[in-house]
Amino acid sequence: MFDLIIIGGGPSGASAGRTAGKKGLSTLLLEKENFPRYKPCGGTLSSYALSCLDFKLPESVVERNISRVRAHFMNDFLEGGKEGNLAVLISRIVFDNFLLEKARETGIKIRTGEKVLDCIEKEDCVEVRTTDNTYLGRFVLIAEGSSGSLKYKVRSGDKRTEYCLGLVSEIPDEDRAIMSRFPGTIDIHFGIARGGYGWIFPHAGYYSVGVAGTAQYLEHSKVVMQKFLQENGFSGEYLIHSHIIPIGGIKRATVNSRLLLSGDAAGFVDAFTGEGMAYAIRSGQLAAEVVSDLVNYDLKLSKLKKYESRCRQDFGNFLAGSLKLAKVMYGFPEISFTLAIDNREILDRYLDEVVIDRNYKDYVKWLLLSFCLTDPISKIKSLTEKINKN
Ligand SMILES: Cc1cc2nc3c(=O)[nH]c(=O)nc-3n(C[C@H](O)[C@H](O)[C@H](O)COP(=O)(O)OP(=O)(O)OC[C@H]3O[C@@H](n4cnc5c(N)ncnc54)[C@H](O)[C@@H]3O)c2cc1C
Repeated sequence: MFDLIIIGGGPSGASAGRTAGKKGLSTLLLEKENFPRYKPCGGTLSSYALSCLDFKLPESVVERNISRVRAHFMNDFLEGGKEGNLAVLISRIVFDNFLLEKARETGIKIRTGEKVLDCIEKEDCVEVRTTDNTYLGRFVLIAEGSSGSLKYKVRSGDKRTEYCLGLVSEIPDEDRAIMSRFPGTIDIHFGIARGGYGWIFPHAGYYSVGVAGTAQYLEHSKVVMQKFLQENGFSGEYLIHSHIIPIGGIKRATVNSRLLLSGDAAGFVDAFTGEGMAYAIRSGQLAAEVVSDLVNYDLKLSKLKKYESRCRQDFGNFLAGSLKLAKVMYGFPEISFTLAIDNREILDRYLDEVVIDRNYKDYVKWLLLSFCLTDPISKIKSLTEKINKN
């Protein structure tokens, strides 16, 4: 009988595993893929995500330091930056493997290439059935990412308005060309897909080029992606990967009697940017901390609910704020992005208040006020002219 069985070895499962190992829980982590494995992702790790790690990420894992953002909307763009790093770029194949090794060094048991088929709650434990074995755990953390179905043991499925589709290609190029096109800068294109954006991120030896948007409105996703690639000078035949991204900030159950959800399985993703690694890491850590309290202090099963309140306290406001911001910006994209391109304070304050300080609440308040105070009639007129010109 394990104290904790973790399903999934992505950033969330690995971070839970590391915390559980450090807390002395007897822990088994089950991962269906053999690591290192590929995961569709832009690979942007925010400074907030870095601050969640209990170790410094080695230089060998960091591909680029990012201090600037270029935001495009309808043939216009603006650029903003900060003195220090806003984020770093990593490749998931390297980063996820590194996190799993950081979990392994705490002494937990890790089995890769073993898929969990089912988990069945018994009176005093959970039975976990895999392709190879059956295990018993006092608690089970489902960190299976966004596309698994074990999470439905805890919560219901998302509607097509509650998740995005993300498509991404990794396009090789010489480092010198990449650096001269995007020196320490990530490139974001709004207006490409409803409820999301297109991106070009300058990794080491390749660009990550992708498009994400609300599933309901992204019916011909490959066509949208191919158009975005061509418009940005990528005209070859590229392998396109697609994956689901849950929209965060929506109230979802994340615990029942002995099961917990973390990361994408719980729906912990920024609704405006699609940033999920930070919340995957943090929620995995919190899940292991709460389970450790129950095991080590022999607390009542009902105390597992503490996990939900700890997540709310820790980053619930960020996700709720990101949902509000997404509703404002993606709800009225023509007006809001035109205003944002015209008024550079909107990007500057976003970088300071949201990306660095994670103060969504004040930012959204200020943003709404500044939209009301601008001269909307003349802005709408100039927008109509722009639309007609295009
Ligand atoms: C196109 C795209 C771009 C993105 N870009 C960014 C970005 O730039 N920055 C950012 O912060 N976030 C980004 N995200 C979101 C980010 O990828 C996720 O939030 C993050 O991977 C969540 O981590 P996780 O550990 O919860 O899930 P995952 O990383 O998906 O890991 C889940 C693991 O569980 C394993 N698994 C699944 N089912 C089972 C099973 N039954 N048994 C055993 N193992 C199982 C899987 O093999 C996988 O390894 C992006 C997402 C997409 C789709």
